[in-house]
Amino acid sequence: MKVLVINCGSSSLKFRLIDTATETVLARGLFERIGQEKGGFSYIPGEKDKITEDRVIPDHYEAVKILIETITDSRLGVIGSLDDIDAVGHRIVHGGDKFAHPVVITDEVIRGIEECSRLAPIHNPVNLLGIKACMKYMPDTVMVGVFDTSFHQTMPEEAYLYGIPYEYYERDRVRKYGFHGMSHEYVAGETAKMLGKDIRDTRIITCHLGNGASICAVKGGISVDTSMGFTPLAGIIMGTRSGGIDPEIVNYIATEENKSLQEVMDILNTKSGLYGVSGYLSSDVRDLTEEYDKGNEDAKRALNKLSYSITKFIGAYVVVLGGVDAITFTAGIGENSWLVRKLVCERLNALGVVLDEEKNKNVKGADMISAAESKVKIFRIPTDEEMSIARQVVKTLS
Ligand code: ADP
Repeated sequence: MKVLVINCGSSSLKFRLIDTATETVLARGLFERIGQEKGGFSYIPGEKDKITEDRVIPDHYEAVKILIETITDSRLGVIGSLDDIDAVGHRIVHGGDKFAHPVVITDEVIRGIEECSRLAPIHNPVNLLGIKACMKYMPDTVMVGVFDTSFHQTMPEEAYLYGIPYEYYERDRVRKYGFHGMSHEYVAGETAKMLGKDIRDTRIITCHLGNGASICAVKGGISVDTSMGFTPLAGIIMGTRSGGIDPEIVNYIATEENKSLQEVMDILNTKSGLYGVSGYLSSDVRDLTEEYDKGNEDAKRALNKLSYSITKFIGAYVVVLGGVDAITFTAGIGENSWLVRKLVCERLNALGVVLDEEKNKNVKGADMISAAESKVKIFRIPTDEEMSIARQVVKTLS
């Protein structure tokens, strides 16, 4: 099958055309700064060189129109006509507890996604815009919605409920949802392959460490707990997000500093995490590593807090899973920072984790980075959310 994968942000649209039989990427591209004065479009047809151009892109509809013109273009294109596309897979951030699986998009599904916008007011409306734009230009092509939250719908009640009055769950659906589902699912699947085991016989902890970051306990291929919560603010400390804190702190800062609730939440979302803990040095692990190497105490404090925070979740999830076969690092930090992987693994002595220092420093692609004697296998596996979406489209339609 040829599947077009669409991933819409508020001012961006990422796409990939994938031949799912061979998992070959036929074309990929990115529209940036949609709706702004100076837009940008970059496009890579297959193995050929990247083409970039400055171009004003008024809205997501125009982006989809340009996308279609480009991939079917006689010179730049990779397919003869739109009829060659068998399905479109849309990334949708929040499926609430309505969507536990990817679904074929119908009017009813669109209403369902609209209802979930309450839980993701920034993301879901933009995802819907991508769906509507594709429906306009490809009215006869089947569309499938794949949700960031659905992988975690398998969590048991004791994992997803908060210790607050039950009526908030019953009435308002206040519960843990979890995010990065496509990444956790993809990486857990690849980990099982590398273990040479049927995924149903594995216990894996996946660490998706990007600007936003979450840890997931995957038992037999199923998510049983994850660190993000009702929103992506919960869990481990992130680039600028606090992760889980004592909720009373919100009240305390608001009262002491005479700030509104919104202002305090803004601090927790944009001025906390590595950025806040480092005394506003940086939210980026590349900068922090450079400073760490120079002995900068602010950078050291931030990276130590990050590795401690990750380790605590891993420890908890080992117990939740009843043991662990593998721990896998992925996303911007997980794939690229040998230092963060090392700092985390050094804290996992109690599990018998031994890192192969050389492999950890020089690893490329998907590989094992633990030493032969390590009791738990450690992997570095690049995530591929678009491939995960394409696989799920195939599964849904077959
Ligand atoms: P997101 O998709 O959540 O925005 P990414 O997965 O792209 O984030 O991860 C971005 C983060 O990855 C950056 O903020 C940076 O901290 C980290 N990162 C990227 N490249 C490197 C690198 N070479 N070394 C260390 N950290 C890196």
